[in-house]
Order: sequence, then C-alpha cells, then structure tokens
Amino acid sequence: MTDFPISRPFLGTVCLLLTSHIAVDARGDDTAGADERPPNVIVIFADDLGYGDLGCFGHPTIRTPHLDAMAAEGVRLTQFYSASSVCTPSRAALLTGRLPIRSGMCSDRRRVLFPNSGGGIPASEITLAEALRERGYATACVGKWHLGHLPQFLPTQNGFDRYFGIPYSNDMDRVNDAPAGKGAFWEPQVAYWNVPLMRDEAIIERPADQTTITRRYTEEALAFIREKQDQPFFLYLPHSLPHVPLFRSPEFADRSQRGLYGDVIEEIDWSVGQVLETLRELEIEQRTIVWFTSDNGPWLSFDSHGGSAGLLREGKGMTWEGGMRVPTIAWWPGTIPAGRIDTGLGSTLDIFPTSVRLAGGELPTDRVIDGYDLTDSLTGKAASPRQQMYYYRGTELMAIRQGPWKAHFITQGSYVGNTRPVAHDPPLLFHLDIDPSEKWDVADRHPDVIEQLRQAAESHRQTVEPVESQLEIPLG
Ligand code: MG
Repeated sequence: MTDFPISRPFLGTVCLLLTSHIAVDARGDDTAGADERPPNVIVIFADDLGYGDLGCFGHPTIRTPHLDAMAAEGVRLTQFYSASSVCTPSRAALLTGRLPIRSGMCSDRRRVLFPNSGGGIPASEITLAEALRERGYATACVGKWHLGHLPQFLPTQNGFDRYFGIPYSNDMDRVNDAPAGKGAFWEPQVAYWNVPLMRDEAIIERPADQTTITRRYTEEALAFIREKQDQPFFLYLPHSLPHVPLFRSPEFADRSQRGLYGDVIEEIDWSVGQVLETLRELEIEQRTIVWFTSDNGPWLSFDSHGGSAGLLREGKGMTWEGGMRVPTIAWWPGTIPAGRIDTGLGSTLDIFPTSVRLAGGELPTDRVIDGYDLTDSLTGKAASPRQQMYYYRGTELMAIRQGPWKAHFITQGSYVGNTRPVAHDPPLLFHLDIDPSEKWDVADRHPDVIEQLRQAAESHRQTVEPVESQLEIPLG
C-alpha cells in the first residue's frame, strides 16, 4: 500500500485495504474482544480561550474545577500550539493534520471565512472525521464549524454523520440596527447577530439563541455519546465561545469574580465535567481519549471581554506566543498517567496522526502531513517527536521554533492600531524555555542558532506548494 487516493469517491475503497494496527491496550476492559476496540476520540475546542484562562493554567479568579480535575487525572501540555492565530486556518489544521497553507485555508487578504465567502475546506482534504469513519467510527460535530457554510463544505460533507451548531463565528451576520462599533459587544443581545443554528444541513433557528448555546451543545454531545457508547466514536466539540459576543446560560450569570468572561468559561468548564462524568457513568472512560484545547489566543482588543494569555506575549491574530500557544489537556484514564506535565512541543496538527494511529489506520502518503503521533509522549514513554513549530500569518512564514529557540523574521500587530508588517534582519531570537514571555532578544549572542533556524525555515519552505486560497473566493 503506497498511494492514498486524492479524490473523495475512492477514499472508502482504498482505506478498507489499509493495514490494521490495533492500538496496544492495557485498559482493563472486562468483555472479551473489547481490548481490540480502538479508543473513542473526543476533541473539545474552545474559541479564543487564552493560555492563562484556566485555573490549572494559573488564572487567579476563573474557577475551572472540572478542567483542573481533568488535568490532575491526565496530562497538561504546556508547550502546545494551534497552527494558526485565527479561527478558520486553525480548524482546518486540526481536522487535516496539515498546515493551512497546504490546503488553501489561509489568505493574506482575508484571515478567516465570512458569510459572504464562497470557499471552504476542499473536498480533496482528508478530515479526521473521514479517516476515523473509515475505521468504523460514528462521528459528530457539535459547535462552531467555520470551514465553509455552503452545503458542499458543511460537516456532513466532510466525514461527520451529523452536525449541530453555528457554521461560522458568533459575531458574524451582525444586524444593521445593532449598536455601532464595539457597543454591541459590551452588552450583547442575541438579536444583534443573525447567526444561524443548523442541524445537519438545515437552519433550525435564526438568530441562534446564544444564551443557551453552550448548554445545548453539551446536551447534544451527551446524547451522541450515550447513543454511540457501544461502538467507537469521534466527537468534535468546538464551542462557539468565549469568542465575543459573550453569552452564558442564566444559571451561570454573575457567578464569576472575573465577570462575564469568567461566567462563560465556567459554563464551558461545567460542560467538560458533564462529558467526563457521562463517560464514567457509561464505564467507557478507559477507552476514550479526550482532548481539551483552544483554536487560538485571547482577543486582547476586547478588553475584559477577551481572555488572558497569562505570561505569554500578545494574543489572537499574532505570531507571538500568546497568539498560538494554547492551554491543552489530554485525558485517558488507565493509559495516560495521571497528573503529569509535559513540556515537550505539541500541536493541534498532531491530533490527526495520533488519532488515526490509535484507530489502527495509516496516514495518507500522497500528501504532506505536518503532525506527529504523540501517543508515546502522552503516555510518558518517550519525549515528544515534535521539534519544530511554524508560525504562519496567511501564507507568510513569520517565525519558526526549533527546540527551545524561536526566531521572528517578521512581526505584526493583530487587528487594531499599527498592523503593518515589520521585518527583522537579523531575526528576533528568544529562548522560550528560559524566556516564555519573549522579553529578551538574544540574537546578537547566537548567530549560529539564527543560521540553523534560517536553514530550517528554508527547508520547510521547499515543502510548500502554492494552492488557491479558499478564503478569497467570493460568494456566488
Ligand atoms: Mg478563534
């Protein structure tokens, strides 16, 4: 088996021929044959949650007891990256294991997809849902999609058996008579944003009642888990929040010392607790790996309505650490040892290969996959295989990390103020193990390191072939 099919109609046929590698299993299932069943995969993906926004990642007043317990029972990944600092490319990377520049899911002109976009995730991409469905998994996407809202791009066309959620960001489709500028966000009303709520391919509510959206995503997720408990399943649960505008259910109103933003996080924390509790109740927690992470850093220009990157510099939209390093927990009782902190490098890009291998599949060989199988590092058996991280803004490679070293070739602001790119020659150089806040440029002391990073960047560029940007295709 050498070639992997490019076009979707052949995917099923060829995948069935793939060699099967049943994941090593010491998880103590008590039914005969259960040991050969691959693990369920759940990916909980917050939107614009900052590195410093969880109790277990150091926030002093946001209470996240369920995520803290998840971290205590699993592994906390402190150097884990999204592949982009904004929504659409980040999601494309997670679901394909490929840098967005390879799939056309990034652009230098439009940073994400909008309701007036005509593009979306290309059919030629193999999503994690498609790869796992071929291995017999039931699949569901519950939450924010943002990989194309036209029928041909929806989750149900990309490997998911079902979909429930808002197809793009919760601040899009703003109505004309909403308060101007950021006024609409400071006291958000559901009616200000005419965003659709969809079930599969149909709009079932518009505007979506965002007040109850986290609760309803949770109910939908739990129903799927209960329904599919007897077979392997993949649940992708990308919350619409805490992306602005901020909403929470009445039960979570005015609970957090951190204010409205804290309320929103505490409801997401409750949701995580519901998922883990349901797995335990069904006694399938030892055959389920659960990831919790975020799509990009906090939206700092929204003041108290945006999150915190903690000790990391800057936030969403930028290639400083705060834009792309995200708070991440992996949980799999009986397989991932409890209470570990893994300081090795990791990325949302790695979820695709890790999951496919755990499911007994093989990675496609007809395309570049940018992720690594993290199974051995998650279980504490080996160091992370990831040594590098590439920081793109659109199609521009702005910075590269290799080991502890990060070189910024170009820096740029996010959305406000001066967003002109600034080139650096020599690049800015930071030792991120010593200086995670990127405070002390040590370029002048390490010309050899700079040369190595330049060469690594050049080698990487050689692997990138130009493709059409999906984000620049207009509607209609
Ligand atoms: Mg986001």
